[in-house]
Amino acid sequence: MIRTLLLIALGLLGPWLAPAWADSGARLKVVTSYSILYDIVKNVGGERVEIHSLAPLGSNPHEYDPLPLDVQQTSDADLVFYNGLNLEAGNAWFDKLLRTAGKTGADAPVFRLSEGVTPQYLTSSGQAGSEDPHAWLDARNGMQYARNARDALIRVDPGHAATYQANAAAYIERLQQLHDKALAAFAEIPVARRYLVTSEGAFKYFCAAYGFDAGYIWEINAENQGTPQQVIALLGQLEQRRVPALFVETSVDARSMQMVSRESGIPIAGTLYTDSLGLPGTPGDSYAGMLEANIRTILAALR
Ligand SMILES: [Zn+2]
Repeated sequence: MIRTLLLIALGLLGPWLAPAWADSGARLKVVTSYSILYDIVKNVGGERVEIHSLAPLGSNPHEYDPLPLDVQQTSDADLVFYNGLNLEAGNAWFDKLLRTAGKTGADAPVFRLSEGVTPQYLTSSGQAGSEDPHAWLDARNGMQYARNARDALIRVDPGHAATYQANAAAYIERLQQLHDKALAAFAEIPVARRYLVTSEGAFKYFCAAYGFDAGYIWEINAENQGTPQQVIALLGQLEQRRVPALFVETSVDARSMQMVSRESGIPIAGTLYTDSLGLPGTPGDSYAGMLEANIRTILAALR
């Protein structure tokens, strides 16, 4: 008798214990820490996902102050994606958000999209040995992010595995084509001119993948950006190795590089996408679009 009542009770509870979307067409609620992950997960999740992205477009995801809405969305999310590799580490904002939103247990649906990427490491004093976050600027790592997004979505929503597999396969194919295009394009730049000078040293993974050396004013977005000592150090490097062009980034204040340009006489030849998608309607308003825009800008300036 008791057993029967218990089974009836469980039967009644069953629909409430299952996630709300399990048997319906309702979309998964997803949170991503910044815009580039938003776009990768959107490509893999397609119509199945409804995504709230945390650090706003054009901002720097190294540091962010979550709003009450962000806490609510993270608390309600079926999946939460972050980059890892120290990206969301400024002020530990992301860890604090997960704690506040109750997404910290071992079984919490929180996924690091850089899982399986071979890390590059920071070298400047005080940060040496820490992982560099900017893995997505090598398109092959973007493919790994897409595979990780696919696997996480399938784990949480196995009923739509075929959709995620098909979406991911098409998207990975597109990124592979972009990677091949980058290799072919950069082969046109003489080796001596393959020196990519930006404000933040966000291009370690990119330079390793595509055969460039990197120059920068500061290594990673943090508190000490564009100090006189950093500007002087870069000017010294530019005397050793003349380059035809300097670059600024959409998500970084351009004033330090403008000073380097004035002092060195080397022009700023373009704006690159690093830590954020571009605003809607700009060439970099998707992850693939920003990689493609960077290829065009770098090729035009250095070849
Ligand atoms: Zn950065």
